[in-house]
Amino acid sequence: MQSPLLPHPDRCFIAGDWVKPASGTTIAVTDPSTGAPLVEIAKGGANDIDAAVAAARAAFEGDWGRMPAAERGRILARIGALVQENVEALAELEARDVGKPLTQARNDAIALARYMEFYAGSADKLMGETIPYLEGYTVYTLREAHGVTGHIIPWNYPMQIIGRSVGAALTTGNACVLKPAEEACLTALAFAELAHRAGLPAGALNVVPGLGEEAGAALSGHGGVDHLSFTGSVPVGKLIQKAAADHVVPVTLELGGKSPQVVFADADLDAALPFLVNAGIQNAGQTCSASSRILVEASRYAEVVEKMAARYAALRCGPAMDDLDVGPLVSAAQKEIVEGFLNLSDGLEVAAQGTIADDAPAGGAYVAPRLFAAKDPSHRLAQDEIFGPVQLVIPFADEDEATAIANGTDFGLVASCWTRDGARQMRMARKLRAGQVFLNNYGAGGGVELPFGGRGLSGHGREKGFEALYGFTTLKTVAALHG
Ligand code: NAP
Ligand code: MG
Repeated sequence: MQSPLLPHPDRCFIAGDWVKPASGTTIAVTDPSTGAPLVEIAKGGANDIDAAVAAARAAFEGDWGRMPAAERGRILARIGALVQENVEALAELEARDVGKPLTQARNDAIALARYMEFYAGSADKLMGETIPYLEGYTVYTLREAHGVTGHIIPWNYPMQIIGRSVGAALTTGNACVLKPAEEACLTALAFAELAHRAGLPAGALNVVPGLGEEAGAALSGHGGVDHLSFTGSVPVGKLIQKAAADHVVPVTLELGGKSPQVVFADADLDAALPFLVNAGIQNAGQTCSASSRILVEASRYAEVVEKMAARYAALRCGPAMDDLDVGPLVSAAQKEIVEGFLNLSDGLEVAAQGTIADDAPAGGAYVAPRLFAAKDPSHRLAQDEIFGPVQLVIPFADEDEATAIANGTDFGLVASCWTRDGARQMRMARKLRAGQVFLNNYGAGGGVELPFGGRGLSGHGREKGFEALYGFTTLKTVAALHG
């Protein structure tokens, strides 16, 4: 695949240069909308990670690490402006690589530009404190970059995750090594190219595509990395935390979810309906903060199922470039996982299903969106993260039961509550176990400004917003005794 943003799609970006992977080999990537070959990407491995970490260290100890914060901010602002100028090209790359409908891919590219803008503006606003202490002392704190930060990201929202994690790491003066998912490297490589054009010094951002067990494991286990940021699945997240423990470095884990929306009988249903459905089918449900469980007070349960079913029946699924409601899943392998879950749906009633377009290529990874009416909140499909366009509608009797069901999974990423009762809004915001709670809306992670992260198996640490800057820095206390 040709793109002006990808001078060498089959190479790594290390020390400001496009370099061939040490293995000399590539990985074939397919277009999930068609199943046809799309591009060959570099099969990076331990040697490339070594080179990338060394380049990052040199940048951190060199010009980049010493650069005044305001100047770092200016560079990030230039990157953001270039991303914005190239939104269409980035969106097309993502649509073809990940199968994301064009409008949704465009929104990711716009979000990436916005992350750069937000973090550009925050570069010179992260400050320490002065602390009242003993007579004769002046005590203050400094927020310092960790040094070299490792970023291992999944395929579902590469641009948004690069924005929130690499953006916050760079603005605080860290030098980054990024390992994108093999299924979705292209926008990461394009971002490196744009950052380079915007004047980011060599080594401040290095990108090494490759397999998780090779390039990913080499990065997470590397003794030269000072902080790890991981977004992905729970099993790999546990491996990353263990690898971080071996070197006693901090780690941020953004894992999956089973996020509920709780709809009380007094809710404004017309306002809620688009949020209820979109939060489940956006990016074909391959969203960590997808709302896969809709909990509804019993007296309006049938009505919500019926209204959601009507929307589902109108959903159309097809190639990313046709820009329908839902694209294919990212790969045939992901389709198999989702179909495996659907085969376990005994005991659930299918309330409605979307339609796969007649002309959708046979080799595409399509799964029609499916809505289930589910009485049992402990059903496997109501507990496990499916990562496909599947939602369950579950009834509840009262606020206590709603809370118990909402909090009754191992995850805790996002939740929402729909009610006109202000006191109930405040109670539920406190009772819901999640990193983000939305009242009378649902943000699927929300805007760039909003801190985001999980509880329980959803992970720990916060990215996005100003809060992320604390995670990407380490605090130093300076105590001066001057009499
Ligand atoms: P994944 O298999 O955990 O992969 C995530 C990243 O880790 C990829 O870059 C992968 O590389 C790499 N990796 C795999 N094995 C590794 C290892 N042994 N050591 C180091 N790195 C390794 O997850 P995924 O299938 O890409 O994404 C789906 C999951 O991610 C879902 O569970 C979803 O909920 C979660 N997710 C969470 C968030 C969030 O913000 N909380 C956002 C997006 C996704 P390769 O793919 O190249 O092998
Ligand atoms: Mg792909």
